[in-house]
Amino acid sequence: SKQPKTTEEEINNRLKHISPILSLSYKQPIAMARAAFQYMYDTHGNTFLDAYNNIPHVGHSHPKVVAAGQKQMALLNTNTRYLYDLLPTYAEKLLSKFPKSLNKVYFVNSGSAASDLAMRMVDAHTKHEKIMVMEHGYHGNTQLSIDISDYKFSNEKGDGKKNHILKTPIPDTYRGTYKTNDGSAGQLYAKDAIKKIAQSELPIAAFISEPIVGCGGQIPLAKGYLKELYPVIRKQGGVCISDEVQTGFGRLGDHFWGFEAQEVVPDIVIIGKPMGNGHPMGAVITTDEISDSFSKGVEFFSSFGGNPVSCAIGLSVLEVIEEENLQENAKIVGDFYKSLFMDLQSNYDCIGDVRGSGLFIGVEIIKNEALDPDTKLAAHIKNELRNQHILISTDGPFDNVLKTKPPLCFTKENAQLVVEKMEEVLKTYYKK
Ligand code: PMP
Repeated sequence: SKQPKTTEEEINNRLKHISPILSLSYKQPIAMARAAFQYMYDTHGNTFLDAYNNIPHVGHSHPKVVAAGQKQMALLNTNTRYLYDLLPTYAEKLLSKFPKSLNKVYFVNSGSAASDLAMRMVDAHTKHEKIMVMEHGYHGNTQLSIDISDYKFSNEKGDGKKNHILKTPIPDTYRGTYKTNDGSAGQLYAKDAIKKIAQSELPIAAFISEPIVGCGGQIPLAKGYLKELYPVIRKQGGVCISDEVQTGFGRLGDHFWGFEAQEVVPDIVIIGKPMGNGHPMGAVITTDEISDSFSKGVEFFSSFGGNPVSCAIGLSVLEVIEEENLQENAKIVGDFYKSLFMDLQSNYDCIGDVRGSGLFIGVEIIKNEALDPDTKLAAHIKNELRNQHILISTDGPFDNVLKTKPPLCFTKENAQLVVEKMEEVLKTYYKK
C-alpha cells in the first residue's frame, strides 16, 4: 500500500493553497486519519488520547450521532422555508434544557454566526450600541464578533478597541485585584464594572461574557459576579448575554449551562461547538420579548441554520448526553482529574493554579511566587505530551495555561494517564 506522506510533505502540500494564518498545533503537527470517542489516530497508525477537543462532545464519530446524520441526509435536507417536524422537535428538546424565560431559538452554523446575530438582536431590541465586554473574551471570527472579542482586537496584530466597546477586567481570583472566592471578590469586581457603567456617557446595550473565560486561560468568573452585575445592566436598559459555546451542554458537570453556576438567567445565550458534535451548528437562544423586537425587522434567513440534517444530529447529541449520563461523568471524572492535578501541584511549584469545573480545566504554569508566567515550560509540557500521544493545549494572555477539555466520555484511567505523563515530563525537566 501507499506510504503515508511525511509531515513536511503534508505541510508543503497544505501551504500550496492554504494560508499560514491558519495555525497548526504542536512543534510537530499531526496528520490525523480517524477518530473514535476520546481517541484520535494519525496516518502512521499512532493512537492519541484526546484530552483537548471539546467539539466532539459525546465522543469523536459517536455511532448514534453518525447514524442520525446519515439517515436524515439520505431522506431530506432542505431549509426552514419548508415545514418539517425535526425543527420544532429539536427546538423544543433544546429549549427544555433552558430556564422558561428563554423560549425562542435561532439556528445558525457556528458560534461566530451566533455572536453576530446576537449583536443584531441587541441593536434591534435596545437601539443602543455600547457593548460591555470581558477582558480576553472571544466570541467569533465575523467583524461584529471580533469587535466584541478583546482576545482579538487587543492582540498586537489586532485593530484595537472600537469606541462603542467598553472593556471590563476578568473577575479573576488568581491574578486579579480581589482574590477571596467566598462571594465577596465577585461583588467587588461587579462594583468596579458598575462604576464604569455609571461613568459611560451612553447606556450599555449589552454585556457579553463567558462563564469561564476560555481564551483568558480557563478563568471562572468569581462567585457572585454576574448576580451583582446583571440587574444593573438591565436597569439601565441593557441585555445580558452568556456565551456558552465552550461551557455548555453539561461539560461543567455541576450544571448544564455555565450561567447556572452564577445563579443568573441571561437574556440571550450563544451556543455552538459541541451542539452538533463536530457538525457545524450554532444558535442564539433568547426571550420572547427580544425575539419579538428582532422579528419586526428585515426577514432573517440562514440557508443552513436549522436544516433537517443538523436538527437530527443536534437531537441525537442531546439524547446521547442523557442516555450516557455524560454530565454526571463530566462531574465525576472532572473532579477526579482536577484532584490529580492538585496533587501534582503540591509537588511542583511551577503549577500555580488548577481551576475550572467538570471536564473544563486549566492548569496555570508559573516561574515564581510573583506568578510570572512560564510560557516556555507550558509549551514544553504540551509538546512533550504530544510526543507521548496525549493531546492538550495552552492558552491565556501569556499562553501559559494548560487547557484540557476532552470529550465527555473521558475516563478516570484517561485522566490518570494524562497526569502521570505530565509528572514524567516535569521530573525529566527538573533533572536537567
Ligand atoms: N465563542 C466562544 C467562547 C468560542 O470559544 C468560539 C470558538 N473558539 C466562538 C464563540 C466562535 O465559534 P466558531 O468558531 O464556531 O465560529
